[in-house]
Amino acid sequence: MDYEPVIGLEVHVQLATKTKLFCGCRTTFGAPPNSQTCPVCLGFPGVLPVLNKEVVELAILSAIALNCTINPYSRFSRKNYFYPDLPKAYQISQYDLPLAKDGWVEISSGGKIRKIGIIRVHLEEDAGKLIHEDSGSLVDYNRCGIPLIEIVSSPMLRSSQEAYEYLNALKDILRYLRVSDCNMEEGSLRCDANVSVREKDAEGFGTKTEVKNMNSFKAVKQALDYEISRQIDLLEKGRRVLQETRLWDERESRTHGMRTKEEAHDYRYFPEPDLVPLSINPEWVNKISKRLPELPKDRMNRFLKEYGLPEYDALVLTSSRDLADYYEECVRLYNQPKVISNWIMTELLALLKEDGIEITQVKIKPEHLISMLGLIDKGVISGKIAKDIIVHMFRTGKDPSLIVEEKGLVQITDEDEVSKVIDEVILENKKAVLEYKSGKTKVMGFLVGQVMKKTEGKANPQIVNKLLREKI
Ligand SMILES: [Zn+2]
Repeated sequence: MDYEPVIGLEVHVQLATKTKLFCGCRTTFGAPPNSQTCPVCLGFPGVLPVLNKEVVELAILSAIALNCTINPYSRFSRKNYFYPDLPKAYQISQYDLPLAKDGWVEISSGGKIRKIGIIRVHLEEDAGKLIHEDSGSLVDYNRCGIPLIEIVSSPMLRSSQEAYEYLNALKDILRYLRVSDCNMEEGSLRCDANVSVREKDAEGFGTKTEVKNMNSFKAVKQALDYEISRQIDLLEKGRRVLQETRLWDERESRTHGMRTKEEAHDYRYFPEPDLVPLSINPEWVNKISKRLPELPKDRMNRFLKEYGLPEYDALVLTSSRDLADYYEECVRLYNQPKVISNWIMTELLALLKEDGIEITQVKIKPEHLISMLGLIDKGVISGKIAKDIIVHMFRTGKDPSLIVEEKGLVQITDEDEVSKVIDEVILENKKAVLEYKSGKTKVMGFLVGQVMKKTEGKANPQIVNKLLREKI
């Protein structure tokens, strides 16, 4: 029998505000445990939450970019449960009236474009973090009250690959908006997956499981693959899938059952009495929508059209808003889109990767990259020398002309000077010269190489080629 998986994702994204959702505590990552807390986020008796306006604006901006309808009236609800990471014994979330609904995200799947539905986007606060040690368990409340949006997809994803594409599309959009860094390792993006399998093209749904505890996009993909084949295996054996929550075990590359439906929490949601409902008028939404930047897919399509770049270049260059900005600044200064793309995609991105830094931290200014290209155009340096120069620029942030001067890297275009070196090379490589004369033209490359070696790569290659042919 042919089966197909049905996958829906619940993604929690930390919004990049300086302070928490309902109090003035900072949200800095990596601060000493419990140093960013106050009576409000520690749930002391008698305290009252005060909604952070910037959080609401970032959430609305995200919902607009995800093509959602913003509800003019939404409200907060208490989600009650008892756990040591939650000092109030309830989490303030949104339940029956979420901030936004009915959106979509575009993904490409097997060469086709698919719109994946988004059921809702709502606001909620994060809980604290438990740290388990041999001597006992510790709790850090710094995360308590950190603002999150939860983005719930409709169960439209049909493979682990589609889920992976969806997560990447979501991350790209939210990072473009600068509403979150979407760093899964630091917990600013978390993903739970609902997955079931059914006979291909069947109408109804199979019993689903909820998979948690994945720490990277790759882990989400692996966990889904594991869970899909586990469920198919059960059905093939005539057994049934239990509706339960399962945890992904990275080390063992498998999921383990955590709790079944019967053991599931009853959260006893009720409207939060300490906060007034959230009323959002169209003017406010309008004002926020003006902050919307050109989104990754649109920018990529524009790069294809406007700069005539190959699809791969456009995809890489628009993968981050800062990289795309850097590229466009270079093109503005020097109208050679493909040449600039080549230098960024090969040399610059390799250097960034080597040092593990982002384009925003790079010392090479766009105007310096462009003046380096100018030096190649004027024949002052060769492309080969430029590859060394860009490394120096990357390390020091210096102007390329200065580096050329300091290191004496000016290209040798003086024919007499090149000629002298060629004479030496001919004398030292008589055998190769004879081979060339007998028709083995391939050795020309070797001879050119010898000249370049003697001049430390500084001889102008066109002149070397020309003179060598003349002399032999
Ligand atoms: Zn606080």
